[in-house]
Amino acid sequence: MSRKVVIVGGGIAGLTLAERLTASERDIDVTVLERENSPGGLARTFSREGFLFDIGPHRFHTSDPLVSDYLLDILGDDHVTISRSSNVYMAGKYRSWPLSLRSVAGLPLPVLFRSFLDIFRYDVSDELRTFADHVISKYGRNIYDYFFRDYTEKFTGCRADELHLDWAEAGVNRAVIDKNVKADDLMSLLKGLLIPKPVSTRFYYTSTGGIQTFCDRQAKRITKSGGALICGCTVTGLEMKLGRVTGVRTRGMGTFESDQVYWSAPVSLLFPDAGFRFMDTLVCNIALSREQQNDYQWCYFGQKEILFSRLTVPRNFRKDTVPEGCDSLIAEITIDSKEMRSRPESLKNRLFSDLASVDALRLEDVIFADWKVIPETYPLYDLEYRDRLDGLGVPSGLTLLGRCGSFWYNNMDHSIGQALAMAEGREFEKDFWKD
Ligand SMILES: Cc1cc2nc3c(=O)[nH]c(=O)nc-3n(C[C@H](O)[C@H](O)[C@H](O)COP(=O)(O)OP(=O)(O)OC[C@H]3O[C@@H](n4cnc5c(N)ncnc54)[C@H](O)[C@@H]3O)c2cc1C
Repeated sequence: MSRKVVIVGGGIAGLTLAERLTASERDIDVTVLERENSPGGLARTFSREGFLFDIGPHRFHTSDPLVSDYLLDILGDDHVTISRSSNVYMAGKYRSWPLSLRSVAGLPLPVLFRSFLDIFRYDVSDELRTFADHVISKYGRNIYDYFFRDYTEKFTGCRADELHLDWAEAGVNRAVIDKNVKADDLMSLLKGLLIPKPVSTRFYYTSTGGIQTFCDRQAKRITKSGGALICGCTVTGLEMKLGRVTGVRTRGMGTFESDQVYWSAPVSLLFPDAGFRFMDTLVCNIALSREQQNDYQWCYFGQKEILFSRLTVPRNFRKDTVPEGCDSLIAEITIDSKEMRSRPESLKNRLFSDLASVDALRLEDVIFADWKVIPETYPLYDLEYRDRLDGLGVPSGLTLLGRCGSFWYNNMDHSIGQALAMAEGREFEKDFWKD
């Protein structure tokens, strides 16, 4: 009898695991159950009238050769290599990100002066617990006050001193620093600004469609090798016998028996009382009839008075993500109220006026604006999150994986790496800094 494996969630982690298991010689019967109508999870792409919109900026970037080989195996020639071009909007101007000497030189003088003095004012406390402790100890209070605190509080909806320091390890390090350039404290940041080292900022993107092309190719391979991918299937819980998981229950599609369940849907669904929290994001996909002036792929906006936290320009990933001569924008907004979730269109006027105020678009060029509520985009690392994870009693027959399943602020390459290791029965270290 073949072994029955059920994978909950057809995002990149679930698909990678399913693709590897079905490709193996082992006698395994693999079924992937996915809530949405198409695979991909957070790496999905929406399309309308010739415009393609990923869920915010999505790029493949990894230094893990196993992941890199796997990416290229799935994509074949269907990929392009692109240089990163990201910005941050600070003091009323677009500046390159990670910060360069030129963009830092343009910051207000009092901020520059106070930040410089912080180099000599190191007060590293004994115990670093919070995001705020970590960033202040690395970059000084002034840079923290000037940028990191507001951006993080706006983005997460939580106070920066109530977030675990892992949020900084995972989020800030990955966004700010290229692994090869040491810039993880104020002094090395300054050195890096004065004597910049060459860095490889090149990343992979698909050469057709959006980022979901990768997942569609995985899905094709899974079904070709005899696996099943069932979309539009919401899993509601687990079947248990004598303390062991024996299947998964679904809404309206019955129960799927299993010898082993891999769970990449939110862990909070399995352990509702454990207190795990996720961020939900509202994205507005905007089609524009003419090219605008935005020369970045994505840009961060830390100002609390601006509605969105990040803008993405798909054209700067690949020109044919928009019809010829057109342009588009993806605005990401953290959901912080019921109203935002149920009536996102009510934000339209404010969004457009904020976009115009930072010269991101000309209002007369807007063709359409599509609002999407994307649930569980980021796990929220409060101060107790590690205890919560350590205290989980995961029953036999169940393995947690992926961003939401293992409550991990990861990237696509991390989800792939974790799933590859699982398929091969290898240990995989959840290293926040493995990029
Ligand atoms: C705005 C944004 C930008 C990002 N940019 C990048 C980037 O540039 N580079 C990068 O590498 N990564 C990026 N990421 C991260 C990347 O998207 C994720 O790390 C990766 O896609 C996670 O894949 P996953 O399979 O682990 O999880 P998910 O994609 O969350 O997959 C989980 C799946 O489970 C399904 N599911 C949930 N509940 C149920 C249920 N009850 N029943 C059945 N199915 C269910 C979901 O629909 C989903 O398909 C970004 C993420 C976001 C939100």
